[in-house]
Amino acid sequence: MFIGHYASAFALKGAVPKTSLGMLFVATQFVDILFFPFVNLGIERLKIVPHYTASTHFDLEYYPFTHGLLATVLWSLLFYWVYRYLVNNGKSFSKQVAWAMGLAVLSHWFADLIVHTHDLPLLGDHSPKMGFGLWNYRHLTFATEVSLLVLGLMYYLRKTKGHSFWGKYGAILFTGFMIFAGFLNLYILPPPENTIALMISALVSYGIFSVLAAFVDRARHANS
Ligand SMILES: [Zn+2]
Repeated sequence: MFIGHYASAFALKGAVPKTSLGMLFVATQFVDILFFPFVNLGIERLKIVPHYTASTHFDLEYYPFTHGLLATVLWSLLFYWVYRYLVNNGKSFSKQVAWAMGLAVLSHWFADLIVHTHDLPLLGDHSPKMGFGLWNYRHLTFATEVSLLVLGLMYYLRKTKGHSFWGKYGAILFTGFMIFAGFLNLYILPPPENTIALMISALVSYGIFSVLAAFVDRARHANS
C-alpha cells in the first residue's frame, strides 16, 4: 500500500492532537523506510518483475525484519519507548503521544495486509504468510487507498480547525496531491529500472509527504 497508509496518520493526529502529523507520516511508513535500504544492503530481498501483480512490479521475496508481524510489533514498541521516555519524557501527554506513534508504526502491517499477496510473514520467513491480494485488482486497489485516505482526512478535519486559507484548505489540497501521486504510481509510471531507483523514488516521496504534512498541520489546531 502507498498513500492509504496515511489514513492512520491523519486519524491518530485527530485522536491525539499533541502528536506531530509529520512524524506520524514517518511512523506509518517506517517499515518501508527501512525496507528499501535493507533490500539494497542485501538484508532483505525484492525482485523487480514488471506487472507481477496488476498493481505492482515487484516480487517481495524475503522481508521478515521489516514486514513480519512480529518485527512490526517490535518496531512499534521501539517508537512507543522513544516517544514515552526520550522525546516527551516527563510531559503529561507523553503516554498518549507514544501510543499514537506506536500504533502508527503497527498500522502499516494491517494496511499492507489488505493489498499484498501471500507474502507478509507472521513471524520469520518460514512462518505462515498472509495477504488478501487486492493488488491483483488495480482499480480496486486505487479505490481502497483513496477511500481510506479520505476517511482519515475527514476525521482529522473534524477534530482540528484552521482559520487562514492554508489552514482551511491546505490539508485537502495536500490530500489531492497525494491521490495524484498514487494515481501516477499505479497507472502511469513505468516499472523501476532497479532497486536503487525504486529506493530513491520511495524515500523521496515519503520525505516530501512528511514535510508537507508537518507544514499543513502547522496551520490547524485541535478543537478545544
Ligand atoms: Zn510495506
